[in-house]
Amino acid sequence: MSAVMISKKAASRRWEKLPGKNTFCCDGRVMMARQKGVFYLTLFLIVGTCALFFAFECPYLALHLSPAIPVFAILLFLFVMAMLLRTSFSDPGVLPRALPEEATFIEMEIEAANANVPAGQRPPPRIRNVQINSQIVKLKYCYTCKIFRPPRASHCSICDNCVDRFDHHCPWVGNCVGKRNYRYFYLFTLSLSLLTIYIFAFDIVHVVLRSVDSGFVNTLKETPGTVLEVLVCFFTLWSVVGLTGFHTYLISLNQTTNEDIKGSWSGKNRVQNPYSHKNIIKNCCEVLCGPAYPSVLDRRGLMVEELPTSASLDGPTASSSSSKNSIAAAQSTKTTAPLIPNEHTPEDVKPGIAASLEKSHTSEEERMPTPLNTPCKSPTQDRGPSSPKEKVQKL
Ligand SMILES: [Zn+2]
Ligand SMILES: [Zn+2]
Repeated sequence: MSAVMISKKAASRRWEKLPGKNTFCCDGRVMMARQKGVFYLTLFLIVGTCALFFAFECPYLALHLSPAIPVFAILLFLFVMAMLLRTSFSDPGVLPRALPEEATFIEMEIEAANANVPAGQRPPPRIRNVQINSQIVKLKYCYTCKIFRPPRASHCSICDNCVDRFDHHCPWVGNCVGKRNYRYFYLFTLSLSLLTIYIFAFDIVHVVLRSVDSGFVNTLKETPGTVLEVLVCFFTLWSVVGLTGFHTYLISLNQTTNEDIKGSWSGKNRVQNPYSHKNIIKNCCEVLCGPAYPSVLDRRGLMVEELPTSASLDGPTASSSSSKNSIAAAQSTKTTAPLIPNEHTPEDVKPGIAASLEKSHTSEEERMPTPLNTPCKSPTQDRGPSSPKEKVQKL
């Protein structure tokens, strides 16, 4: 009975132990970067400008032009907010770091490969070359996450995570933009451009219509919010529309901002973009309508940890069960391997990756009674009556 209480106390969600500079809300369902100041500014600007529009312009425009104007504005505003929150509150495609055993194994593998380097000479850079669509792509080793990054992944210095198909870190949305939230980010910039143009245009229409009746100066006095809205929209318009245009260009080439800045596929490297279909429609379809990728973090998965103080008080029977707990913890913390293939990893490289994983598991299995790639179990499953001793203890 006491052993069951130990496992209950020690159970925690994986998001609580994840490395990296992220914050989590709603028991791990919401994930963001730690720096969120600019995100609150984005929220304030959008909600504030729309609130002024609904308060000052919409009643007049609905009466004198059409009631459809505020209705369409509300729909557009809701869509913008939905896309913003979907981008900000989701996992952008964070790749889990290697476990200590995996990191040790890959370090040993690299050291063995560098054994032939003469003393005094610098070892070669930690790079693996793979061929994708007859182009050579380099997989770089991440010294923080201890993994060879899959193609198109990069390490975000602000979130301190490797992100798959990393685009950029956007402080305005308070999150990285990567494989899992790029399309929502693009839809956010696109819809925000439309909303800004919409509000700006109807602000002007409103001022013109009112000026005919009561004069320009009186109109500005009657609706002071209009001036503020026009100013905010005017300055936002250029940056947001420009950003949308830039991302439309990137999507048409199936390229990320990170690749564009680094010039990964520019002529100087003599490497063509291997991910481009050389067709704008196909590229747009792949980026915007491709499959939705699940998160590989399993943020809400349960971990069971050992509580040494309680275990020592319960005598030898409990300590045997706590050692089982530590094995279960090792099983449940298993999230990934040092080499993580993604859909860009060529088929001929995947067997090599699988072989290195097998080697890694074998070295761990020597110490562990069960394979590490067992799926995560709930504490109750972990505490299942696997041995007769435990059955007796539960009874
Ligand atoms: Zn990394
Ligand atoms: Zn980031």
